[in-house]
Amino acid sequence: MTGIKTFGNSDSGAERMIRMQNVNLVYPTGTAALKDCSLEIDKGEFVFIVGSSGSGKSTLIKTLLGELEVSSGKIEVAGKNLASMTRKELPYFRRKLGVVFQEFRLLEEMNVFENVALAQRVVGVSSRERRRKNSLAMLEMVGLSQKLKAYPNELSGGEQQRVAIARAMVNRPAILLADEPTGNLDPENSWEIMNLLKEVHELGTTVLVVSHNEDIVNKMQKRVITLHKGQITSDARQGGYLQ
Ligand code: ADP
Repeated sequence: MTGIKTFGNSDSGAERMIRMQNVNLVYPTGTAALKDCSLEIDKGEFVFIVGSSGSGKSTLIKTLLGELEVSSGKIEVAGKNLASMTRKELPYFRRKLGVVFQEFRLLEEMNVFENVALAQRVVGVSSRERRRKNSLAMLEMVGLSQKLKAYPNELSGGEQQRVAIARAMVNRPAILLADEPTGNLDPENSWEIMNLLKEVHELGTTVLVVSHNEDIVNKMQKRVITLHKGQITSDARQGGYLQ
């Protein structure tokens, strides 16, 4: 189904954060993972991306991160046309995006504080004191001030995901992309993580969450974009899991 009405209507004067226009992505294997996808997301929105396994959700996230080149169509993220971006510009662009994954992806040989502080070194925050302050502030926000020296394998899944969110947010990105952030968590921890993402949103961050969790999507009542076999089949202003 094409031509679905999408929101993010900038007539309201809101700033557009993400725009995909007629995006197709075909993997070298021949699989068409995204088919004529168009969507617009404004600054400060909270959006769920839902759809069954294999519907193209992770592919969509990777195209927004600039990790996958689209076969046709256009993508703009934070005012940048990804197709015309040079290699040099990519690291600077990535700073505008925070990413959280289902499987946490923390560095096992580093403690909680170091995992978060490293994200700042990577983007070139040269002042050690500033890295320390920013990291401590983020870890306080996620409620882990008491676990600074713990290693990932000494933490619960929920705690590890909170570290991952602190790491994703420590450089104050404009957009947070979360790919199944509660996929490995029990319901109680899943809700803690969702509440944290709500807080991140309330700070002004544009938040995109890929989720399989019907209960969460239904209760959060946020915008929900549904993918089916690579196509956007619905875009609802206030959520409902439509599978
Ligand atoms: P989802 O995240 O919704 O589960 P994906 O974006 O991972 O879906 O996958 C969409 C489609 O693209 C699926 O048919 C999947 O098998 C295929 N696919 C994903 N990654 C690759 C890849 N690296 N190479 C070839 N096909 C892929």
